[in-house]
Amino acid sequence: MTTTRFAPSPTGYLHVGNLRTALFNYLIARKAGGQFILRLDDTDPERSKPEYANAIQEDLEWLGLTWDRLEKQSARLDRYQAAADRLRGAGRFYECFETPVELDLKRKKQLNMGKPPVYDRSALALSDASRALMRKERAGHWRFLLDQTRIEWVDGILGQISIDAASVSDPVLIRGDGQVLYTLASVVDDIEMGVTHVVRGADHVTNTATQIQIIEALGGKVPAFAHHSLLTGPEGEALSKRLGTLALRDLRAEGIEPMALLSLMARLGSSQPVELRGSLAELIEGFDLADFGAAPTKFDVEDLKPLTARTVAALGVDDMAEDMAKAGVPDDLAADFWQAVRENCVTRADMADWWALCRDGAEPVIAPEDAEFVAEALRLLPKGQLDQNTWATWTNAVKQASGRKGKALFMPLRLALTGRPHGPDMSKLLPLLSKAKNGSR
Ligand code: GLU
Repeated sequence: MTTTRFAPSPTGYLHVGNLRTALFNYLIARKAGGQFILRLDDTDPERSKPEYANAIQEDLEWLGLTWDRLEKQSARLDRYQAAADRLRGAGRFYECFETPVELDLKRKKQLNMGKPPVYDRSALALSDASRALMRKERAGHWRFLLDQTRIEWVDGILGQISIDAASVSDPVLIRGDGQVLYTLASVVDDIEMGVTHVVRGADHVTNTATQIQIIEALGGKVPAFAHHSLLTGPEGEALSKRLGTLALRDLRAEGIEPMALLSLMARLGSSQPVELRGSLAELIEGFDLADFGAAPTKFDVEDLKPLTARTVAALGVDDMAEDMAKAGVPDDLAADFWQAVRENCVTRADMADWWALCRDGAEPVIAPEDAEFVAEALRLLPKGQLDQNTWATWTNAVKQASGRKGKALFMPLRLALTGRPHGPDMSKLLPLLSKAKNGSR
């Protein structure tokens, strides 16, 4: 069975970059009728926070990205110890005692000599006696002994990859304080949870190389790997520092619609055009990892607005019922009102602004040169119940009386009635303006 996982660390809020990973893994699992696991990579007890773990789940639920299974690494520490023992038994795990400062010094020396800063494995040369001595001084950390061959895989996005293991440091899997690091935990989980496909950011390519060897050393089956390109800003600038400002919960608070966000992220960076979809089922249908390329993917948060506006415009009066009730739109006006304003809302919240306008009226905007014209026009406005034909009849009468036409005729009237140069079709809005006012009197 196809099994994928999304494995965020609960050390912060999810942002658009994380969403890309989550969505790809979700879509692959759903398209194959497989399983999608949400795994919380919470082995770092200091930085992992329950409130972030909750927020991650809330954000995914908001988007409808449901998971079949929830796992927490903190509950599986014994599994990682067992795997560490097996690596030790197989002679692939060794204890090191360098301090961070010493390691840093080694790296600098290597770089000065024009060599790649790869760990020199000097801990391997320690005798049992000196190891015992070192242990009295400080706790050792544990590295996986890479087999210095080329590590190769066919990446689902990047194509054929070949990495020389000799150019990579033996990864530390357990820290001196006993903390199991992500690489070991992730590999053990991927094996034991039967993960078949791993999609993650291109910043993990080197991790993948080492993980393939660890999986093999543990006798696991290597999943299919794919690495998506990282997001950049609209000008190609690095986004990593700004991702914090692109948290999913902030986008939600700004009124961005889930399907607008998902539709964009499911296509951005692919050879397929971004198309607004009405449901996750449609996204699943149209998704193919093979459409994605290796080039950095430009992301512009502004692109979410027109997509959100189109999503909102397509909502039916029933979809908006709750929002309208909250805004105080009376039931008997809801259908006509939503019909009038749906094309003029970027977010659902804009509906409430239009309702406030209908209910309270606008501060009229009247240019001095239009003052007389507007006064005359208002005198001609029919009394009593206004309907969808009133605007046409009225503006015709005003046209006859004033000789104005086109924009010179319509714009001053719109500005006088709504206080804004743009907005809903006036023939739909005008009856609402009067009904809402009469109703609230
Ligand atoms: N917790 C890791 C991260 O957020 C997971 C990477 C992976 O998918 O293996 O970067």
